[in-house]
This record gives sequence, C-alpha cells and structure tokens, in this order.
Amino acid sequence: MKNFNPADNIQDLQYFGEFGGVNPSISDSSTYTFLSAKTMFDTFEGNMEGCYLYSRHSSPSNLYLDKALAAMEGTESANVSASGMGAITPTLLQLCGAGDHVVSSRTIYGGTYAFLKNFAPRLGIKTTFVDIIKLEIVEAAITAETKVLYCETVSNPLLEVADIEGLAKLAKRHNLTLVVDNTFSPLSVSPAKLGADIVIHSLTKYINGSSDTVGGVTCASQEFIDSLKNVNSGASMLLGPTMDSMRSASVLKNLRTLHIRMKQHSFNAMYLAERFEKDGLITVYPGLESHPSHKLYKAMINAEYGFGGMMTLDVGTLAKANALMELMQAKNLGYLAVSLGFYKTLFSAPGTSTSSEIPLEEQIEMGLTDGLIRFSIGLDNDIERTYQMMKECMKELDIM
Ligand code: PLP
Repeated sequence: MKNFNPADNIQDLQYFGEFGGVNPSISDSSTYTFLSAKTMFDTFEGNMEGCYLYSRHSSPSNLYLDKALAAMEGTESANVSASGMGAITPTLLQLCGAGDHVVSSRTIYGGTYAFLKNFAPRLGIKTTFVDIIKLEIVEAAITAETKVLYCETVSNPLLEVADIEGLAKLAKRHNLTLVVDNTFSPLSVSPAKLGADIVIHSLTKYINGSSDTVGGVTCASQEFIDSLKNVNSGASMLLGPTMDSMRSASVLKNLRTLHIRMKQHSFNAMYLAERFEKDGLITVYPGLESHPSHKLYKAMINAEYGFGGMMTLDVGTLAKANALMELMQAKNLGYLAVSLGFYKTLFSAPGTSTSSEIPLEEQIEMGLTDGLIRFSIGLDNDIERTYQMMKECMKELDIM
C-alpha cells in the first residue's frame, strides 16, 4: 500500500481555471444566480452538490483550498476561515455547549488559552488545563461532562510534543473528540493519521508562509464540516469567520511550495539548534536528542519534512533576551516580531508577547522562563553564515 504523503496528496489534485488557466479562477462574487427557484431552495437546504448560494456559506475558491488542505491532512473535508482563531473557536463551540467540559493542554497558543479560560466559561463551557505529556494526568481530568480533548502537536511556545496516538486512544475510550492544532508542524505530522478527529491550522503561519495574511482551517469528517456550515446551527456559518475568496486563492498558490519550504526551515533550525546546544546554550528543538520527546516525535513525523522550524533559546534574563533580539534585528538576521513560518527568521520573547495572556505564576509553573526567545527559523540560503553572525551578536552581549 502506498504510504501516506501529504505533499503528494496536494500535488495529485488537478485544478484548472475557467478559461484553461493554470490556476483556478477566483470566485469574485458574494452571491450566485439560479436558473430555477427550486434549485435555489435545495441549495439552501444543503442538498445541491456543486451549487453555490452565498459566499459566507461556501465559494468555489474556498472549496479548492478546503480540498487541498483536506488532502494534506488526510481528512474527508475541510473548512477554511478568516483566521486560525476563526477555525478554533467555531470548532470548539460546535462541539461544546453549556455544561460541557474541555480537557486542554496548558501549553497552547495564548489566544486559544484565553478563549478557553476567559471566554468559553461565559457560555457555560469549562476547561481543565493539564500537562499534556502525562497521559495519566490527562485521563484523570476527564469527567462525565468532558466532550473535547484539545492540544497542539508541538506546543507554543515550549515545543512540547503531544503523543497524538496515546491521546487518540484515550479520546476513543472516553468517547471524546480529539482536536489537534497542527500549526507548528504542517506536513511533518499528520495528526488525523495518528487518530485525531479534527485537525486545525492557523494558515497565517507556515502554510501561507509569506506573512501577508491571516487565515485558518478546520480539517475533519464531512459530517463535522457540514455541521459547522449548517445554515441553522453551524458555528462557522452563524459566527461568520469566512475567508475571502481572493485570499483563499493566494493561500492555495503558496501551499504549492510548502514542502520545499518546510524542508529548508527544518534543515536550518536543526543546523542552528545543534550548534547552539554544543556552544552551551539552553536550546530546545524537537530534533535534538536532548529534547524530552525526541524519540516520540521522531516516530510521529513524516521524516522527509524534518523536525520543523521552531526553536527556543534561553539566554537567562528578559533584559538579555531583549538586547539580543534588538541586535539581531539591527544586523538583519531576522525580525523582532510575533508569528512564524516566514522566509525571514522571526523572534520574540513569548512571556511578554504571544503567551502574555497566561498569568505569570502559570508561566513559571509550565517552565516559560523570562529569558526564553522563540525563534521561527527562516529560509536562509547559507545557514553557517547566519550561525556565525548570530554568534557574534551573542558574544557582543556576553551571552556566550
Ligand atoms: N494556533 C497557533 C499554534 C498559533 O500560534 C496561532 C497564532 O499565533 C493561532 C493558532 C491563531 O491563529 P491566527 O492568528 O491566524 O488567528
């Protein structure tokens, strides 16, 4: 049997434009005409495959991207959205109502954490945050009200690795839906193949890859995607986080080079992580044997795409971290910016930026230290040259 390869699955899709264009035509309309009123009614009811009614519901451009992302994750279907949060929040709200409970990893993107901790309780949805590495702790947090098990494949910002197969078994045993945010590891990890029920991405990051848009996707069974888009009860349809057709067309074009980019991001990150660790810096990268989940991650990944482009260095204090980031930016080694998956290296101190929603005492408990810098390693052509230049910056600041 042919092995599952996400990039081959994307490549095997053949789309043409309306006039034979090599890119599919962009659907530049919010509404669609019908030759018969009966067909319009049937389309509204969701019974007319291939007919479009209104672009908040679905559009040809969004369906092309949906299809490509479903192929990438090996799910039946997908639904793109205007942002990663626009995929995460409707998905959770579709799965949970008042009285329901979520068990979530405590090391997740700050926005998701804030939604579950501060916003979802307003709707009667409670969350227990757990150390996702410890399956016995995850299981102990499950109650009769639990509906969802939520994690990120590689967590933001600590780069912990979730045992998706182990979590999927737990989810099955307790009749829960396992939702995995795979934003940090597209192509490298295929969570649905490891047993996840729903896979989410912020397309803003690696998948689009050019830091020029925000976007998101939920990849799942046809039944779940239909429920999200249901005109009477679908969270995506009713909350309205629809991606614009122009954007979905441009994200689809960028998706075509994702496999090449991921290999280079992984190569460069591995190169730097190995060297900085040898230099004595506290380096966290799942490709390093010193990473607590290295063996697990190695067994989980589609090897040719590597261990990803995310790495952290702990330089001791926030003051040193800030000085180093400012100096590296001044030397044009990257940008002091949040987000990830860009051609250029991006760096930020998560405690004061992307994870600042997490209270200080909880940051300390989860090991999110003051001097931690999160790097999204770019596509630099000569990574040895970059390494030497970064080292110079560190020497100048007495970090090494
Ligand atoms: N998931 C992860 C892992 C993220 O890092 C982010 C954003 O940083 C999001 C989700 C949210 O995505 P977006 O900013 O596209 O809404």
